[in-house]
Amino acid sequence: MDVDDVIAAICTAPGVAGLAVLRVSGPGALAVAGRVFRGADLAAAPSHTLHHGWAWSAEPEARRLDEVVAAVFRAPRSYTGEDVVELSCHGGRLSAERVLDALRAAGARLARPGEFTLRAFLRGRIDLAQAEAVADVIHAETSAAHRLALDQLAGSLSRALVGIENRVLDALAEVEARVDFAEDVGGVEAPPHVRSAVRAVAAELDALRRGSAWARAVREGVRVPIVGRPNVGKSSVFNALLGEERAIVAAIPGTTRDRVSEPLELGGVRVVLSDTAGLRETSDAVESIGIERARATLDESRIVLWVVDGSTPLLDADLAVGRALAGKQVLLVLNKRDLGAAVERRTVLDALSTAADVAIVAVSARDRSGLDDLRRALATLLGLEDAAAVESGAPRAVLAHARHVDAVARASAALERAAAAGDDDLPGEVVALELREALDALGEVSGRRVDADVLDRIFARFCIGK
Ligand code: GDP
Repeated sequence: MDVDDVIAAICTAPGVAGLAVLRVSGPGALAVAGRVFRGADLAAAPSHTLHHGWAWSAEPEARRLDEVVAAVFRAPRSYTGEDVVELSCHGGRLSAERVLDALRAAGARLARPGEFTLRAFLRGRIDLAQAEAVADVIHAETSAAHRLALDQLAGSLSRALVGIENRVLDALAEVEARVDFAEDVGGVEAPPHVRSAVRAVAAELDALRRGSAWARAVREGVRVPIVGRPNVGKSSVFNALLGEERAIVAAIPGTTRDRVSEPLELGGVRVVLSDTAGLRETSDAVESIGIERARATLDESRIVLWVVDGSTPLLDADLAVGRALAGKQVLLVLNKRDLGAAVERRTVLDALSTAADVAIVAVSARDRSGLDDLRRALATLLGLEDAAAVESGAPRAVLAHARHVDAVARASAALERAAAAGDDDLPGEVVALELREALDALGEVSGRRVDADVLDRIFARFCIGK
């Protein structure tokens, strides 16, 4: 990876604004910026100093581009760990673009998306989990997601994993020493205390994994389909839930405002309710596309909101919907309670005998009653008490990325295999091999061991200037 050239980019979003900030980084950043900036000698400036002056275009044109303030950060005490100059100019369409052109003419190349953060990682300023947290901070759309990302940026996960890696390293060192001195230890190369230490680490990793499902929900949002036969009040329940949330929804830029899929914020988590077309058979082409999409959403979702008309006994069409929810966490909504209660609990529980989990609430979409119960039940199914605790509780290590969950699962499996190999009196080398595999998997999270294509994928999520 090329880290020796000087990179530059505009770090702020385009548009009319008071300021725009450009960042220049790399060995030679002071010289490159110094060719554009007039007001002080940046090459001689101490670290962490501010200088007022003007940005100028290169000879022969040599004209003022904008009035700027240059901030100098010398390696290694900068965002990237390299020499960095940040130029604050005026916002708007032209100033920053012109200054960027001048920086490029002076020898900088345009930074790729996430390249400043990539360099911070490559120079050891932050680990990979922290680099990913930078993108999460920028993309956070709920306050819980933001807080979670800040915790990870501050190193909660990184510190926890370093502690765990050290314990695996201790076990590995002991096993390897025993392999070297096999005769002195009577051939016992993975003694019981090492095996139980290894199993304890595996159990901790599993707990971390299990306890993190909500963190992914916080970061990614959750999709919750609403199912039920026609006319039970799905759209009404959907609208009633969203009704009070519209202000929040409208405040999130770029969200789809179609009727069938809108987000609401529940306990800090962005929950996207999708009002499915109903799952009945149809010959209508347009409707069948809707149904196919509904089925796909249903397949991907862990949690489903099943709406029935609670004021009349269930029909076969209702029960058919219920039976299609095998393996799901189902929140059954008995709607139209203003008209009475005619559904027997036993009947619905029978229909839901294959569901993973069932919660039942009675509401009236018409009266807007029971909606708080509905929200609370949904939050419980989603495990959002934990998410709510993010805001108030102490920072803790969580796995908020599928990539982390996968690596930690592999690490834990390798540790289990290491302990089992010890149980079976297999040679110490076999145990050591598994322990190393666990370390490699853990190293994927911190980035100590990571392939270039994984890095490319991660940093592609970033914007230019970050
Ligand atoms: P969907 O086909 O399942 O989406 O059902 P709709 O939301 O379109 O509602 C079907 C009908 O039931 C409409 O006439 C609604 O006004 C009515 N409805 C929905 N919710 C309630 C409720 O809580 N109480 C009463 N009385 N009627 C409701």
